[in-house]
Amino acid sequence: MDTESGKRTSAGAARWWRGNLHTHTFWSDGLAFPEEAVAWYKGHGYHFLGLSDHNVFQDSRDRWLAETGRERYFAEYLAAFPDAETRIRGDGVREARLSTFDELSARFNEPGRFLMVPDFEATRTVAYSSGRSHQVHMNAVNVPRLLPSIASPDFVRLRHDVRLSDFISRHEAETAELAKSLGRRPVFMLNHPQWQWYDIPPEVMAETPAVRFFEVCNNGTEIAACPDLPQDGFDTDRFWDVANAFRARRGLPLLYGLGGDDTHVYRGEPHGGMLMPFNAWTLVRAKSLDATSLVDAMHAGDFVACEGLEPEDVAFDRAAGTLSVSVAAKPGAVRTIRFIVSKADFSETPERTIVVRPEADANRNAHERTIRIYGGKIGFEAKTVVGAPGEPLEASYTLAPDDLYVRARIEEPGTTLCTANLHPKGRLVCWTQPCRA
Ligand SMILES: [Zn+2]
Ligand SMILES: [Zn+2]
Repeated sequence: MDTESGKRTSAGAARWWRGNLHTHTFWSDGLAFPEEAVAWYKGHGYHFLGLSDHNVFQDSRDRWLAETGRERYFAEYLAAFPDAETRIRGDGVREARLSTFDELSARFNEPGRFLMVPDFEATRTVAYSSGRSHQVHMNAVNVPRLLPSIASPDFVRLRHDVRLSDFISRHEAETAELAKSLGRRPVFMLNHPQWQWYDIPPEVMAETPAVRFFEVCNNGTEIAACPDLPQDGFDTDRFWDVANAFRARRGLPLLYGLGGDDTHVYRGEPHGGMLMPFNAWTLVRAKSLDATSLVDAMHAGDFVACEGLEPEDVAFDRAAGTLSVSVAAKPGAVRTIRFIVSKADFSETPERTIVVRPEADANRNAHERTIRIYGGKIGFEAKTVVGAPGEPLEASYTLAPDDLYVRARIEEPGTTLCTANLHPKGRLVCWTQPCRA
């Protein structure tokens, strides 16, 4: 499928590949050695994985981690990977060397079976003199080197009083330039934009047209509970539709949505069920398992975001304007396919605004966030098809003349480990990408 240029493929020799592009390890604040993280994902049937540590790419062969306070992790790691490189520091503390991307690739990559994809999470904060601040987290996928501005000795994470859209766009441009110099094509994505302490208003995405990807499903994303929010919550689907309605009206490229675990904990350490592996993932349709094919397919919109549910087929016939989605049979399961559109005559004036005040925690300031609630012509559910229990389900929707785009959301009753407010409750979900004529 090519949602922007209109090629119809329901796939030829291409197939779906499952991956997670948002994963943390001891290279930053994840609680696992990189070999453990990779081995667990590979062992769970994932085909590709990006280790997206904060503000670091895993290319130094001289990063050592001290055992102090991590005795349990060291014991499990050294038992599973007895060839790990360790040394004893002058003060008698044992250290283990963190494996690099190249070492992990050499160890775990298998043609047609598993692929490590370069990745890092640019992690910044913008603060305003008003007291508001936004954490801005952006993954650069398929770029095997840290951005020069972050690698610089002058790097400071905090910036003051810059426009959010300028700040995000500047990182996208730097990522594109670095990738080009390395002969690669990046996937640059805005992470967890709705997270309560880190919120990026969706309208900002209409001012950052070069940013083509965001996380529609992030395992750690939490938004403050607020009785004034619409009954079905203010979720990332709404963020997505506001961003794309504004983009479509301005003739800009549509924003695509990924799923990612944002894995930080692997052994059930307390995080309220959040940030655990194997909840949210990205499923990409490509002919072969290599970074170029995966990235090209993502730029063509030929991928879906998953939380516990995968499609069988997704196809867009651009000439007819018809999006078709199918999901395979599963004993007892009742599937629903929802087709979601935004209408060309939507109003950019919010119907109302809601102020949400998240609670502060030890690491983060509480600040008010203002959520603009738009009318029903943004993110309108145009068609809903419910399947019979246990049966496969296929449904399609043809764009109406006043539809700006259509996307589909497949659902099935069920639960995942993820408890964050922004995750669908009691449902497994698969999100397909927006398509337009
Ligand atoms: Zn993040
Ligand atoms: Zn992260």
